[in-house]
Amino acid sequence: MSTGDAYAVLAAKHGYGNSVRYRRILEYLMTPEQAHMVHLLPCKAEDLAIQLGTSADAVKGELASMYRKGVIFARSPEHMDEAIFALAVVQLHDITMCSFDVDTVKDRRLFELWDDFCTEEWDPDQVRGWIEGTGPQGRIVPAYRSILDSPEILPCEDMRQIIDSARSIAVAHCTCRLRKDATNLTCKHSHSMVDIQFNVSAEYLVSRNAGKRISAGEAMALVDECEAKGLLHTCENSTRMRPRWGMCNCCVDCCMIYEPLRRFGVPVGKCVAKSRYEARVEAEMCTGCEVCLDWCRFGAINMADTSGSGKPAAVIDPELCMGCGNCVLKCDFEALHMKLVRSPGHIPQAR
Ligand code: SF4
Ligand code: SF4
Repeated sequence: MSTGDAYAVLAAKHGYGNSVRYRRILEYLMTPEQAHMVHLLPCKAEDLAIQLGTSADAVKGELASMYRKGVIFARSPEHMDEAIFALAVVQLHDITMCSFDVDTVKDRRLFELWDDFCTEEWDPDQVRGWIEGTGPQGRIVPAYRSILDSPEILPCEDMRQIIDSARSIAVAHCTCRLRKDATNLTCKHSHSMVDIQFNVSAEYLVSRNAGKRISAGEAMALVDECEAKGLLHTCENSTRMRPRWGMCNCCVDCCMIYEPLRRFGVPVGKCVAKSRYEARVEAEMCTGCEVCLDWCRFGAINMADTSGSGKPAAVIDPELCMGCGNCVLKCDFEALHMKLVRSPGHIPQAR
């Protein structure tokens, strides 16, 4: 195999062996010699050096550089003998753009390459997978301030308990939002430092200069900020207290899940499970101000004169309501609250 062919081999591992766009990303991230080295992993540096006719120190230097770039993965920089190429597109996408070494101006080309590939190839493929898949991979965690009074809240749906149970916490860039910012679609919702990661993932990000260590108090302050901005707490669809994806705080303009779902007109539930809660309106308290309509990211609120009084009030569509709690936090008239409507079994047990 020639050195250049390693790109095709690596792209094929992610299901994009024939994609010119994906190859361009790999070519941006690795020299042909680095790609050749990566395709031989996992392998000890000393053995790689023999295969490649170079020194172990030179190999270690290249591996350290690619670890920091996010092209290869290991538990930590001390475990480089176990390093492997990214497991899938999503991992390479997130990690190569998520680094304080990466700059949206200096590295704009990287963001453009990812955006082109995602828009043209990956998003349609993902959406097809979600439609044909076996169930939602993610779930909404309700805004904690919208369910403060709920006596039956589970630990895995309570942002306070999720944060408190973590041994270590880091915040990192949301790469969806960073990618859109870099390619000129500045998100109107927030800055991109909203991806909260826990324990092993937090340590990994800090070791790569890709995450900033924060305290539980700082994490809760960030959660408050995200809830004020109407961002959606989204994590894996399980009861795991330290979700493997971490806790994303998503908008529907940039997110690699919500945005394609909306663009392709696919129901959100195909990829993201509702929370166990649903919004309810107390019509007599509703002034008809319509503020909640603007804050509902899922078009689940309409105005209607349900009482026949001639005064329209908010009406929730239970099919569309994802149980995020955004609307409850924004109603100044206490006309909205969250009602528990699903049993604990709605959230799959962590395996
Ligand atoms: S924000 Fe409150 S008062 Fe205003 S329309 Fe919505 S439910 Fe009614
Ligand atoms: S109505 Fe909209 S904003 Fe309110 S909880 Fe449901 S999905 Fe969220």
